[in-house]
Amino acid sequence: MTAPLVVVSGPSGVGKSTVVQAVLRQAPDVWLSVSATTRAPRPGEVDGEHYCFVSQAEFDTLIATGRLLEWAQFAGNRYGTPRGPVEEHRERGTPVILEIELAGARQVRAGEPDARLVFLAPPSWEVLEARLRGRGTEAEEAVRERLATAGVEMSAQGEFDDIVVNTDVEEAARTLVGFLHDNTPR
Ligand code: 5GP
Repeated sequence: MTAPLVVVSGPSGVGKSTVVQAVLRQAPDVWLSVSATTRAPRPGEVDGEHYCFVSQAEFDTLIATGRLLEWAQFAGNRYGTPRGPVEEHRERGTPVILEIELAGARQVRAGEPDARLVFLAPPSWEVLEARLRGRGTEAEEAVRERLATAGVEMSAQGEFDDIVVNTDVEEAARTLVGFLHDNTPR
């Protein structure tokens, strides 16, 4: 029997990567999938560790040869989950977690029916709005656009198997670890 596949998605600004890092600290047996992306590395990001940084042509090849479990365009760049490593880890009994945006989560739903899709939600709309406004240095127009996107993203929660509210990072992570260690067939 293959180990669980848990997909964490949710609106931008909800704190997905912070919660996922807490999951990895709490459960060192879990493997976080390394995505391929066409975006440029940010300072401190290591190729093969945070992402596999690829060219547009390389990304095209990954799609054409069916090597991506899902992929999506986000903020002008492409991101995708390599299929092989996810399958290998699961077959060896290692639980796998993906941290991806919504369009990708929908594709996983279609391609991997046994995946558990988790929507990470903010404690309230006000909290998400405050996070998206950040330090308040951005133009109001850009902020309004992000809030509109977040509103659309929030309305996707009904498509998910579980909703985890990110009130407390460690608590949210504990819930996810429970899903990753739940071997009940789905
Ligand atoms: P960032 O550029 O800030 O690292 O990521 C931007 C967005 O892309 C985040 O919402 C992140 O969850 C999402 N993302 C990262 N990797 C993947 C992937 O492989 N597939 C999809 N669909 N989204 C991804």
